[in-house]
Amino acid sequence: KSLLKFENVSKKYPNGVRALKDVCFEVKEGEFVSIIGPSGSGKSTILRAVNKLITISGGTVSLDGVSVSEQRGKNLRRLRREVGMIFQNYNLVYSLSVLQNVLHGCLGYMGGIRGVFGRYTEEDKKRAIELLGELGMEKYCYNRASDLSGGQKQRVGIARAVMQEPKLLLCDEPIASLDPSSAKTIMDLLRDMTQRRNITCMVNLHQLDVALKYSTRIIGLSKGEIVFDGAPDELNDYF
Ligand code: ADP
Ligand code: ADP
Repeated sequence: KSLLKFENVSKKYPNGVRALKDVCFEVKEGEFVSIIGPSGSGKSTILRAVNKLITISGGTVSLDGVSVSEQRGKNLRRLRREVGMIFQNYNLVYSLSVLQNVLHGCLGYMGGIRGVFGRYTEEDKKRAIELLGELGMEKYCYNRASDLSGGQKQRVGIARAVMQEPKLLLCDEPIASLDPSSAKTIMDLLRDMTQRRNITCMVNLHQLDVALKYSTRIIGLSKGEIVFDGAPDELNDYF
């Protein structure tokens, strides 16, 4: 089943940079797609176009058959709830505990109705603790997020994103700030957590070896254009 579709998507930033040119691809449910390409090739722009953190200049992005650019207000918030995000720099709230950070996932990205009241149910709390347990972080529930190592922070990032119960998880350079051993742990956890819950994954990476190991599919970008789209073994033939 098709989940995400880019049709002739282009993006020109106000400074005149054309970050995406006529980008077309479709992602099916359950895929683990890596987007690879040098810095500045447009990887982040693709992810930001999915949940309308930027407005595209041309073409159509649709999620579950719904055109993203036409959504506003309540409909846009509902759409963003379906899309989790993980960041290179974790984007945790460092003054709060690990558990409180994960509970923020209940709000969905950019907040939501429960953000207004700031309340969580006991059920939410139980689920957050279970998720942290699954990621080997149960001991750290009541630690401040600022006290953790980089790899531990990203586990909290994963827990917060999964807490939101997204259909699609966007990961923007999730391991770029980590040492190789933490990076491996994070990629293993990311794959296991999302496979178990049938969450579709799109991951921006600049390490080809990691993309080859974890992806079901690789999209190669160069200067805003797709230069490769296929299975990892096809990429080996390509070079
Ligand atoms: P990547 O994630 O592959 O490094 P980006 O999508 O961040 O690439 O950037 C693609 C191009 O768009 C780059 O030339 C970058 O400088 C430019 N760019 C990204 N964000 C902005 C912005 N907010 N305003 C202007 N130019 C931007
Ligand atoms: P690592 O352990 O991988 O070296 P760190 O845990 O030192 O990584 O930090 C990774 C990122 O988190 C950095 O971008 C840093 O700026 C940010 N960061 C760390 N601690 C805080 C904090 N207390 N407040 C805001 N940002 C933080």
